[in-house]
Amino acid sequence: MSSVRPGVVGATRRCPHCRETILESAAVCPACKHYLRYEPGAGAAESTQESAQTPLRIDGSIRHPPDGEPWEYTVVVTIRNDRGEEIARKLVGVGALSPNEQRSFTLSVEAVTAKPKVVRENRPTTLGAKA
Ligand SMILES: [Zn+2]
Repeated sequence: MSSVRPGVVGATRRCPHCRETILESAAVCPACKHYLRYEPGAGAAESTQESAQTPLRIDGSIRHPPDGEPWEYTVVVTIRNDRGEEIARKLVGVGALSPNEQRSFTLSVEAVTAKPKVVRENRPTTLGAKA
C-alpha cells in the first residue's frame, strides 16, 4: 500500500468507478475515463490537464506468422526507481493470437506539474500538525 498521505505530491486514491489506484489530483480517471470531480471554471477535462506531458510513449505491435500454432501472450508493465528496484508490477492483460492476427500495444507515461494543494476543510485531519 502507498504510504503517501492525502494532499501530498504523489498521493493516491481509489477510483470509485473501477477501483484502480490513481493520483488523488486526477480529475478524470485514466483507467476508466470517468469524471471524478467538478473542476470550477473547467469546461472540459483537457483544460485541467493543460500541463500534462507524455515524456515516454512506446507503440508497437506483434503479428503471428501466417502459419504455426496459436500464441498466448501476457502483457506486464513494471516500474523501477533510480536504483533499479521494482516498485510496481502490473499484469495488464492476456490473450491469444491465431495465425496472421495482430495486436498493437501502447505504453504511455503522463506527467503533470504537481501544484501545492490547499487542504479542504472537510478532509479527515490525519495530516501532520501545522507549526
Ligand atoms: Zn476509474
